[in-house]
Amino acid sequence: MAGAGIENARQEAEILLAFSIGVGYKDLLVQLDQPVSAGAARKYAQLVEKRREKHPLQYLTGIQEFMSLAFEVNEAVLVPRWDTESLVELVLDKMKHFAAPAVVDVGTGSGAIVVSLAKYYPQGEYYAVDISQDALEVARRNALRHDVAGKITFLQGNLLEPFLGGGDYDIVVSNPPYIPQKELPYLPADVQKEPRLALDGGEDGLSCYRLLVPQAQRVLKPGGFIFLEIGDHQGEDVSALCRSYGFSNVTISQDYGHRDRVVSGHLKR
Ligand code: GLN
Repeated sequence: MAGAGIENARQEAEILLAFSIGVGYKDLLVQLDQPVSAGAARKYAQLVEKRREKHPLQYLTGIQEFMSLAFEVNEAVLVPRWDTESLVELVLDKMKHFAAPAVVDVGTGSGAIVVSLAKYYPQGEYYAVDISQDALEVARRNALRHDVAGKITFLQGNLLEPFLGGGDYDIVVSNPPYIPQKELPYLPADVQKEPRLALDGGEDGLSCYRLLVPQAQRVLKPGGFIFLEIGDHQGEDVSALCRSYGFSNVTISQDYGHRDRVVSGHLKR
């Protein structure tokens, strides 16, 4: 796989081998002297070939860890990113100021955000929306896997459309698609195998925010909060958008790699 330009080729090969044998990664390391069955060897060869073709490792194993929880993933959803943990941490921090906040996760994908929030703040009332029915099925399974299905209402729809009838929510959180269209062809080959719907932010990358921010203004209670993941050069534009729709204390926060990653704001009372 190193020859195919896979950066962590050795570790990824080990992960695929463990997966083929049906053991955990750490267990593999203590049984390196054990023979590998013909079936497992065949499976391993197929997976390595797929990885050489740049299928994301997580689609091959079906798992990605996020917020120390194991999430099922497949081709219908974006693989949860470590960067997004900083978004979740900011929301968790804010939720402490509410007794039982009503929270909407827009474009939930695998459900990584809403399931983590429900797991670490069980007192909340959660809603998750996605335009993709296939993604919602993955999100539902992840909620079941982590015993929080009873706390989350899943809805199909475009951004906040299903919620526009009522304005009773405390927090809107989203990691929407934000890659400018012209950059899509230059993304790494494995990222290009993720759903275009989850990446494509329109001509300048800001299309979703332009729809979502005014919707959030209608859906949030006065005094509610918005938390948006952004691309690292979008902080100023998304902040300006939030201010123009009545949000105050608009703040740009950084991820663990010190890049701008989240814009948050408080809806004036
Ligand atoms: N909310 C999901 C995540 O953060 C999916 C985001 C997306 O598809 N743009 O992983």
